[in-house]
Amino acid sequence: MFDETEVVIAGAGPVGLALALALTRRGVAVRVLEKREGLSAASRASTFHPPTLDALHELGVLEALLPGGVRVDRILWRRSDTGEAAGIDLGILGAETGFPFRWHREQQDLTPALLAALPLGCVRFQAGVVGMSQDDTGVTLRAADGSTLRARYAVGCDGASSALRSLAGIAAETNDYAHRVLRLLTPLDLREVVPGLDGLGYLYDETGSCSLLRMPTVWRLIFRIAPEMTDAEAMAEDHARARIARFLPQAAGMEIEGRDVYGVKRAMATAYRAGRVLLAGDAAHLTNTRGGMNMNAGIHDAMTLAATLDLVLGGEDEQLLQDWADARLGVVREALLPRTDSRVAASPGEEVARMAALTDDQKLVWAREASMLDLAKVGMPR
Ligand SMILES: Cc1cc2nc3c(=O)[nH]c(=O)nc-3n(C[C@H](O)[C@H](O)[C@H](O)COP(=O)(O)OP(=O)(O)OC[C@H]3O[C@@H](n4cnc5c(N)ncnc54)[C@H](O)[C@@H]3O)c2cc1C
Repeated sequence: MFDETEVVIAGAGPVGLALALALTRRGVAVRVLEKREGLSAASRASTFHPPTLDALHELGVLEALLPGGVRVDRILWRRSDTGEAAGIDLGILGAETGFPFRWHREQQDLTPALLAALPLGCVRFQAGVVGMSQDDTGVTLRAADGSTLRARYAVGCDGASSALRSLAGIAAETNDYAHRVLRLLTPLDLREVVPGLDGLGYLYDETGSCSLLRMPTVWRLIFRIAPEMTDAEAMAEDHARARIARFLPQAAGMEIEGRDVYGVKRAMATAYRAGRVLLAGDAAHLTNTRGGMNMNAGIHDAMTLAATLDLVLGGEDEQLLQDWADARLGVVREALLPRTDSRVAASPGEEVARMAALTDDQKLVWAREASMLDLAKVGMPR
């Protein structure tokens, strides 16, 4: 169908589509090849951090994401047993971003907005990439239907099992975290039962912790489950009720509207670039869902890569691409993975006490790092 373009992207997830739109806005000809018949509707990322909101605003799609979403201004840490609490107000980031808050909305609400903003025919569905060859002037991708597409550069945004990463000979260092997560959905407004809760809270007791996350129509309750427990045992009514009762005894009988279990994985590509093939998003990094950072980091990959590719396609030195690749790999290794790795508190109250003891300056540093404001532009060409 297509035969030639400037940049070809494998994968129409949030990262591939954000990259396609960022390139299009810069006047770069781009095509996306997607394996599925349509966009994924899976419930995954929930959190858009301030620099991602800045980026989506720049791309002109934020207006589609805001209505119906949840603005979160304050994060709460609270001991369920003693009531001791700490909080951080994200408004302290007001000098650094146009959006000093988290926005909670499903990832599957972003991708249609990105797709709608792209030129008609830019994304080709049912065209999974199965082959790749590259030479001094370009790269050719072969889709499952046998068609080929040649471009000056190709970007693998094809997720954790990236075919393009393998085809380019880039290895991934993978290791599963030793835990899975039970996710319960309730329509009960948890702000009515947890003092000081806005849209995100971490509750602690003698045995561990639980996260509460407000979404547009439900709250997500997130619990870590024991390694020996099967998914079915974790989702069983008795177990789910017992976990709720421990942290929210005042709401133990809440309606449970949905439940699932997911394993948390950790992986990192050993490089972001092999010749004319580049990686972005889950193809390059996979993290714990703690902190809600992985998709956000992927969108930051996309924004910084679009700016870099634009310069290189315009005649600047290809070394810029290697600088970008090294910079983003550094972000993953030195910040993204360490920040999202699970932190095991020495005692149940430790985290609450630690947060309560922060000075205003320390709160600002914490909020900046939790919001990824210090990472989003790393790799952006000067
Ligand atoms: C339960 C859960 C909660 C999460 N919460 C958060 C959160 O709050 N915040 C956050 O930042 N992140 C979160 N994440 C992570 C987030 O979902 C991912 O980081 C995000 O989906 C990555 O986007 P992507 O576009 O890189 O990859 P994907 O979304 O995986 O998209 C890849 C696309 O490539 C396509 N594809 C695959 N193979 C090929 C091929 N050979 N050729 C062409 N196309 C192909 C796929 O069909 C897919 O459409 C969460 C993840 C999970 C599982």
